[in-house]
Formats: sequence, structure tokens, C-alpha cells
Amino acid sequence: MNAVVVGAGLTGLYELYRLREAGLSVQLFEAGGGVAGTWYWNRYPGCCFDSESEIYSYSFSDELLQEWSWKHHYSLQPDNERYYNYVCDRFDLWPHIRLNTEVVGADWDEATGEWTVRVGGGEQVQTRYLVLAVGILSAPARFIPAIPGAGETGSGAFQGEAYHTSNWPLEEVTVAGRKVAVIGSGSSGVQITPILAAQADQLTSFQRTPTYCAPLRNAPVSEATQQEWKSDYQGILDEAKANPRGYRYNPDPRKAMEVERGERWETYERLWQRPGFAKWMENFHDITSDPAASADYTEFVRGKIRERISSPAVAEKLVPKDHPFGAKRLPMESGYYEAFAQDNVALVDVKEDPIEAIEAGGVRTVSGFHEADLIVYATGFDSVTGGMTRIDIRGVGGQTLKEAWSEGPRGYLNLMTEGFPNMFTAVPRAFCNYPRCAELVAEWVADCIYAMEARGARSIVPTVEAEDAWQARIEALAQGLIFEKADSWFNGGNIPGKKRTFMLFPGSLPQYREAITEAAAADYDGFVVA
Ligand code: NAP
Repeated sequence: MNAVVVGAGLTGLYELYRLREAGLSVQLFEAGGGVAGTWYWNRYPGCCFDSESEIYSYSFSDELLQEWSWKHHYSLQPDNERYYNYVCDRFDLWPHIRLNTEVVGADWDEATGEWTVRVGGGEQVQTRYLVLAVGILSAPARFIPAIPGAGETGSGAFQGEAYHTSNWPLEEVTVAGRKVAVIGSGSSGVQITPILAAQADQLTSFQRTPTYCAPLRNAPVSEATQQEWKSDYQGILDEAKANPRGYRYNPDPRKAMEVERGERWETYERLWQRPGFAKWMENFHDITSDPAASADYTEFVRGKIRERISSPAVAEKLVPKDHPFGAKRLPMESGYYEAFAQDNVALVDVKEDPIEAIEAGGVRTVSGFHEADLIVYATGFDSVTGGMTRIDIRGVGGQTLKEAWSEGPRGYLNLMTEGFPNMFTAVPRAFCNYPRCAELVAEWVADCIYAMEARGARSIVPTVEAEDAWQARIEALAQGLIFEKADSWFNGGNIPGKKRTFMLFPGSLPQYREAITEAAAADYDGFVVA
């Protein structure tokens, strides 16, 4: 086998396509029962894109761009799952995909220059290249807090049904007439809460840290818009590829505080009425970097939250106070705040009233007991590293990836790690609209494999010096960014005991593209090719 790809999400499927097109023998293993990665696993009610559908599309095939029609401006999970299935049909990828097959380990053999990949059930596969396309927020690395009794259905003290949002069952979950507990209020919790609240007998939201949430303003795509996109799809995608964050939003070049208050707040309001991330990314460019601008916009957003909640006491619990706007990833919502006006919805602030235990019949907090038939863990992920370190990967000298990354993810270009030859950490980590980096990464990896095959190389691995310089660059770029002001999956602060370090490439998408392209063009500068 030339290559094994792990994961059938958007990076893995495209990687498979590129390698197969080059005539290489390639096998993709996927732990789930279907393709689509995050859009397979996160099938909870309300799940949808928060990037615009047209810029989430694969760009590699004009035919695909013409054939596929997104139904919503922020496409819903069932359609997203259908899209990746359509891609597998359209490009005949199925013969190379094994579903329900978990990769549990991989061992590097210095003598043969190959990886032995171990899959569940005991089977072993030899491969020259190992491509870990497991995603930054990988469902198998989902996080369930260490609350006594906590666990998914059948694994904790709870006698009812309990699901993590990223491990939502294929079968419909009954919500009507039930008492539901939702733990967590990041993007997933904020999306699922109003949908469940509309059906449940009672919904209790257990919130630790409120986040600034903004209205998504989703809508169906009209036929006219569909045709407009299709008349220049590559133009739209080129614009996103050239954009610092992979979107089609351009920040206002003015400094916020140099604009007179009336005009400034009118600008905030106009952007707030727009769909998607416009209110963040099309705002004044210094809205998260200048302290006065940050404080001003944060106050505006707090006002927008308060005006949607009738009870001042509830509003004060939902308004973030301990971090500024933009310090955590912005959850996009549809009716989240309004849900708290419903008689059947309650909010528990677990900083005031901590969860003591999950018990057979519900959730016990210090002040009382909250009966539940269904518990939803919207509690996030061991981001970036978790999806890879949970696999027992043993590189040169038997060193595990988990050991190598005990102080955070190391590597060169975020793509390869010293001590792990021919292994690609193909987990897109530019801080941008995900597919725009996913395609870039899949192409870089495929091009590297073609180049190594063409020159008859046995192995490629980065040097320690290149890794150190790359790490220093990431740390320098991350210095002073607003993300330092909150714990989140961006910096590992969401997982108790995890080393706090910025998990993504903090520069722009074009900077990242330039860095990885230059290294390849300079005959794989920073790598040892043997
Ligand atoms: P998350 O943002 O990490 O949120 C996890 C939530 O669980 C937080 O509210 C956290 O509170 C809470 N939590 C963790 N441990 C807890 C405990 N012991 N007790 C009570 N609460 C606890 O995870 P997520 O919502 O799944 O989102 C992760 C990322 O996935 C997003 O940032 C986004 O990038 C992506 N996503 C995207 C979409 C989309 O619209 N496309 C939808 C969902 C997710 P603290 O804040 O206090 O830690």
C-alpha cells in the first residue's frame, strides 16, 4: 500500500481523491458508519454550517460546483452529510473506503521504511505513508467532564439516555414530553438548545461560562443566488482563498475609536443585522486588538444580548463578563436567547451552583436536584491533538506521539513531526474557514507524496531545527492575541491538565499557504529526505 488515510471527513476524502488520481494505491479507514467526518458525527438537532455554504464547497471540480446546489446559506447537517456522500459517488471513492474501521495504532519500521497500521479487530496493513486526516475537533476525542457519574448512555450513573453532541445517534431521539438537561453553552450547546426547548417538557441549561452569541440569520438560497454563484464559482472561491481568514469578509480599515461614536455604533448595528460572521470579520479591523475598541464593541454586544431577554436576572447570567468579545470562538445562534423566555426552560449557572454529580434520575447541583430523562453533553473536544494522540502511534525508537506531544503539538508547518517519518498530521490548522485550509493541506500532502515517490525516496521527516523555528514563529504570532483572555479549545484551556498553547497557526491563511508552499518549492527545506 502506498498510503493509508485515517478519517473520511472533508480533508480525508479529498486526500484520497488526490492520491487515487495520481495512481497510488490508497486505503481510507473511517471509524464511523458513514462519510462526512464532523457532518456525520455531529448530527444533533440544529447542527449547521456557520460559514457560508458557497465558500464551504470543495473547489477542485468545476463539475461538482455546478452539479451541487446548497439549499441554505448556512447548510444544515443532513444536507452536508449528503454532499460528502455525493462526492464519494461522483468520484467513485467508495472502493477505497472502509467504514466502521477504527485505526487503533501504527508502528514505524525503520528497517523497511514503512508503517504498520493496526485497525480494530486485529488486522494490520503495511503502508509507506500515513495520513492522519482526523479533524481538529474529532468526535472520538470528544470531552465528557469528570463529574462523578457522568457518561454517555450506559456508561455513567444516569439511567436515561445521554449523548455527547458529536456522538448523536443515527436513530431519532425522543424529546417531546421529556425533561432534558443540556450541559455546555459553546457553539454546539447554543445550536441545540432552542430546538430541544421547542419540543421538551422541560429543558435545563447548565452553563459555566456564557459566551457572546450572535444571530446566524440563516435563509434558503434563492434560485437567482444559486445561478449567480454558479456563474462564477471559482471567482468566489478564489476570493475566499486570498482572504486572511478564508471568508469573503473584509475588515473595515478604519480604527474603531477614531470614528465618531454615533457612526461607530451605527456601523456595529448595520453589521449585526447581517448574516454570519460579518459582525466580527467585517467590523473595524482593531475590534479585538485595540483595548478601547474591544471594550466598546463588547459593550455593544452585551446590549444586544440584554435586549433579547425579558428577565433582567436571566439576562445577567447570559451576558459574559469575564472575557471580551472575540476571546472565544463566536457561536452563531438561531433563537437561543429567546428560548430562555419560555416557561419550560431554566438556566443554572454552575459557577454559582456547581454540579456535584450525575445520578440515576438527573443532575445534582449544590442547591438541589434537576430531574432528567435525557442528558446532552455539549462539552466540547480535546481539540487538535486529541484525535491523533488517542491512536497508539509509535515512531522512531518506539516513541509515542502522545509522549512527543506531551507539551503540546510539535511539528513543522503543522504537517509533519520529527521522529515520525512519512506521517502527515493532515489536520487543517490555519485559523480560517476550515475547507479553505483543508484543501490546501490535502494538496500539500499529496504533492509531497508524489515528489517522494518520483525521486524514489524512502522517507521524509522534519529536522528539530525546522520544528523549533516553526514553533517560535507560532508563539510570536500568538503573542498578545485576544484568545489569551479566555480558556477555549483554541489554546487547550478547555481541557483540565492540557498544556496551554495556541493550537492553530495564528497568522493568515495566505501566510500559511506561503510558508508551506515555499518549503516544498525549496526542495523540502527543513526536512530530511532519505
Ligand atoms: P466548546 O465551545 O468547547 O464548548 C463546550 C462547553 O462545555 C462550554 O460552554 C464549556 O464551558 C462547557 N463545559 C465544559 N466542561 C464543563 C463542566 N465541567 N461543567 C459545565 N460546563 C462545562 O464546544 P462546542 O460547543 O462543541 O464547540 C467547539 C467548536 O466546534 C466550536 O468553537 C466551533 O469551532 C465548532 N462548532 C461549529 C459549529 C458550527 O456552527 N459550524 C457548531 C458546533 C461546533 P466553559 O466555557 O466554562 O469551559
